[in-house]
Amino acid sequence: MAAARHSGRTRSWGQESPGARSALSRSGCARVRPTTGLWPREAPTPLGRRAGARDERQPAASTSSQAATEPLLLGPRPGEVAEDATVPGLARRVIARGEVSIEGDTLKMLDVSDAFWREMRTRGPEAEARPVPAVVRRSPGVMGAEPDFDVVVCGGTMGIIAALALQRRGHRVCVVERRLLEGRTQEWNTSRHELHSLAREGLLAEAELEACVVSDYGRVRVGFKGGEDVWADGVLDIGVSPAAIIAALKREFEGAGGTVMERTAFRSAEVRDDGVVVKVAREAARERLDAGDMSRPHLVRGDGAAGASAAAGPGPSGRAALRARLMIDCMGHYSPVVKQLRGNRKPEGTVMVVGGCHEGTPPAGNETGDLLYTFGDSFADVQMYWEAFPAEGGRARTTYMFTYCDAHASRPSLEGLLDHYMTQLPTYQGTPLEELDFKRVLFGAFPAYSDGPLRPGFDRVVQIGDSSASQSPLSFGGFGSMLRHLPRLSRGLSDALSRDRLSRGALAMLHPYQPSLSLAWLYQRSMALPPGSLRGPPPAPGDLRAVGKGLEPPAPVPRGRGFLRPGYVNRLLKCSFGVQSALGDAVMRPFLQDTIQFVPLSLTMAGMMFRDPLAITQVGRQVGARTMAAWFGHKLALLAYTVAHLLVRGLRRLPGVEGLVRGSYWLARVADALEWGSGLDNRGGGGRGGAGRAGGAAPRP
Ligand SMILES: Cc1cc2nc3c(=O)[nH]c(=O)nc-3n(C[C@H](O)[C@H](O)[C@H](O)COP(=O)(O)OP(=O)(O)OC[C@H]3O[C@@H](n4cnc5c(N)ncnc54)[C@H](O)[C@@H]3O)c2cc1C
Repeated sequence: MAAARHSGRTRSWGQESPGARSALSRSGCARVRPTTGLWPREAPTPLGRRAGARDERQPAASTSSQAATEPLLLGPRPGEVAEDATVPGLARRVIARGEVSIEGDTLKMLDVSDAFWREMRTRGPEAEARPVPAVVRRSPGVMGAEPDFDVVVCGGTMGIIAALALQRRGHRVCVVERRLLEGRTQEWNTSRHELHSLAREGLLAEAELEACVVSDYGRVRVGFKGGEDVWADGVLDIGVSPAAIIAALKREFEGAGGTVMERTAFRSAEVRDDGVVVKVAREAARERLDAGDMSRPHLVRGDGAAGASAAAGPGPSGRAALRARLMIDCMGHYSPVVKQLRGNRKPEGTVMVVGGCHEGTPPAGNETGDLLYTFGDSFADVQMYWEAFPAEGGRARTTYMFTYCDAHASRPSLEGLLDHYMTQLPTYQGTPLEELDFKRVLFGAFPAYSDGPLRPGFDRVVQIGDSSASQSPLSFGGFGSMLRHLPRLSRGLSDALSRDRLSRGALAMLHPYQPSLSLAWLYQRSMALPPGSLRGPPPAPGDLRAVGKGLEPPAPVPRGRGFLRPGYVNRLLKCSFGVQSALGDAVMRPFLQDTIQFVPLSLTMAGMMFRDPLAITQVGRQVGARTMAAWFGHKLALLAYTVAHLLVRGLRRLPGVEGLVRGSYWLARVADALEWGSGLDNRGGGGRGGAGRAGGAAPRP
């Protein structure tokens, strides 16, 4: 249907739906005034499709003379603020124009998401200190009856993977999902090797997994403004349908007797001596949106009644208490249990992501992906990164723009970022905006912590997936991370259940300190800019701020201590990837696969010191002395873990030692912690022509 909608013609923005038309005519009347912002006033450089280095700060309409005049004149240009604050920004107009065909009620979702993000940014010390509701409590005594299940998994996205893995190992499992257990339509990008861990763990057959692969494009690009592009394979080079894979996992799980309760929400849990009582309630037909729904626009369906009914669930009272031996919290970043554990404190870091899936990119421009790309320098204390992947087998293209930052009050709104994405997308992709048919528009602000993974806070309750903060703070690839850790987690969780090692301390062994993960934090910080760290004038009100819809004026940006040049982050990244590329696949691929290992890291750091020592010296000032000192500590730990893992791996080949390790819950977890913590679970393969990851070649018990 969408293909029919897009017939290759160049459309005028004035010929749209009535809703869009009124928005356009309103905005057409708006008078705009230039600001003293950072947007350059010089004439934009004409650009060809997917040309090389381009400057993101140029108005995007530069891609074609037609686009340079008509569409963007209908609202404020970048660097201009509408005098009429009710004029919708570009993103709002694009969404309104596609309101019939864009999935879900995106504008409603945008307002909800921005409200959450605004609350987080403007949260003061008092609000941060305010206690949060306790949803998990320790109660003395026993449950008083046999458990209904061994495990109740709350939250069904990564939850169904954990549930099926445990069911396959002989445990009785129930999944409780507040919405429908159906994933989302936006593809997950991963590699075939990672995906096949589900087959290696015996969850789905290889043919079933292949049926879920919708896009396969072979190569991805890494490039930074003014530098040379680097190409890689075996990294985020396929697109998988979350809906298809979750449907297949659910089918297997239910087919083998597993219980799924949809439209049923976790409310609270009582931890007793012999188990945990999980209280759940039927969700009202008209569901309230919250921050956790940001990546799933299709969830907004008006009456909320679409889709299948619950396979099982609370009775007529709408409430139920499920007795289990273990509860797995798989409720994502905004899980109420995580909120209880972390309190109201702002997260240390945030990644703000906006993007969309659109048709209309010419086939020649949609054959490969971008893993990490910049074509502009930093401005307004943010550096924009771009990603792009062929989607739906090449019929569509997914593009993301993201930035690493923090929840400082001066940070842009999601709508402001989305406006910027829309203005820059034509420059990035070489296709005028009016030729793109959006099928989905996405946005979100994801919290990041330096201390991941999150250690369990209670006996018998453990986090898995985004709630556990065990994915890399660089890529936020929670699906990929789940696949990578699946052998370790399913073995460990099953062991904990079989041996009744369900205390908080025993469960903490499943989320051990991982120097490889902790080191990724410095990388993230070095790709982020603290507020006020850029040289030059502070951001003007028109930069990255949303206009219209009554969004608050931004907080003032701290002034006066700017010390980084706008091209600094690009310079650092060009240096890092230039060195990695010169050192070859063995160094670059693990890093791109989200794994930091000691030897590649040391070689890269040494190479960078040699290549651009001046750029490196700035990092300390940028990230702060504490982060820098912690980083050296983690690097020493990485060395220790690497040596210890190699030693243990050798020892396990001796007769009797393997049995000893597997026979002890603690020894097995320490061995796993050393392997994953050193990053040596990734054996450097996975490339299309590569050797594959040796550790994943055969199923591991
Ligand atoms: C735009 C975007 C693109 C992404 N692309 C990729 C990618 O290409 N590759 C990749 O690896 N990762 C990607 N990710 C990340 C990936 O989607 C997440 O890491 C993954 O979905 C995490 O799954 P989860 O189950 O831990 O959390 P979530 O996906 O947040 O799922 C949590 C589940 O818990 C349910 N829930 C919440 N509260 C309750 C409650 N009280 N009771 C019961 N259920 C509840 C929710 O309804 C939801 O189903 C992307 C994320 C976004 C936003």
